[in-house]
Amino acid sequence: MSMIEKRLSALSIWFFENLLRCEGISHFISTRIGGYSNAPFDSLNLSFNVGDDEKRVMKNRKLLAETLGISLNSLTTAKQVHDAHVEIVTKGSRGKGATDYKGAINAADAMVTDAADTCLMALLADCVPILFYDPSRRVIGVAHAGWKGTLRSVARNTVSVFRKDFDCSPKDIVVGIGPSIGPCCYEVGKEVVGQAENLFGANQGYIGKESASGKGYFDLWQANLRQLVEAGIPEENIETAKVCTCHHPDLFFSYRHENGRAGRFGAGIVIR
Ligand SMILES: [Zn+2]
Repeated sequence: MSMIEKRLSALSIWFFENLLRCEGISHFISTRIGGYSNAPFDSLNLSFNVGDDEKRVMKNRKLLAETLGISLNSLTTAKQVHDAHVEIVTKGSRGKGATDYKGAINAADAMVTDAADTCLMALLADCVPILFYDPSRRVIGVAHAGWKGTLRSVARNTVSVFRKDFDCSPKDIVVGIGPSIGPCCYEVGKEVVGQAENLFGANQGYIGKESASGKGYFDLWQANLRQLVEAGIPEENIETAKVCTCHHPDLFFSYRHENGRAGRFGAGIVIR
């Protein structure tokens, strides 16, 4: 793994090396460690929408924001629906969903902005967090990609918004692909295998160990990496954590490991 873990007071926060080198932004991948929630959301659950006590979620978000030196009211979240819509976040929508679920941006799995002090945050438990930064145009983005979002090309769509709406050149964009369920654990049914092969072609290496049952293991990291490279981002600009959430349930929330009753960790980025 290439990510850097930092112990910041009670919290364990992970950072991409390539994004740490960029000036003018902050970013983070949070873990389960150091929060206030009880099992099964123990302990740093950041989602208001998984059945956890809202007051504890609020305390967790405050603790995270304070620890990172980010304003709580700048935490901007979306209602994630496993689709591929990219929301352009303006100053006016800064902080939507910071303190409740109903105020979050409606139905978006990616967000892009050039507004300063606006922290875009995705919430995760096995899906892939992808953070984007164009240091040349000073534009940031975040995407949430599970198998549906990956097949619906949410990562590619995010690059399109950088290009078309912010006049960015993909070669300038720096990307981190964060912890998620890995190809070691992500068994999928033959329906998903079929859809992935239709989209990417068979034998691309995204679906491994196919058994007689038709099931396979989906490599979401490779599938998203290829999407980003095809969208014009140089491979050397992309850092992949290659950390499996299902393999590290002590560190990260994992929907599959917890049989669906799991909290959410956060992946965020903000222009200073
Ligand atoms: Zn695994």
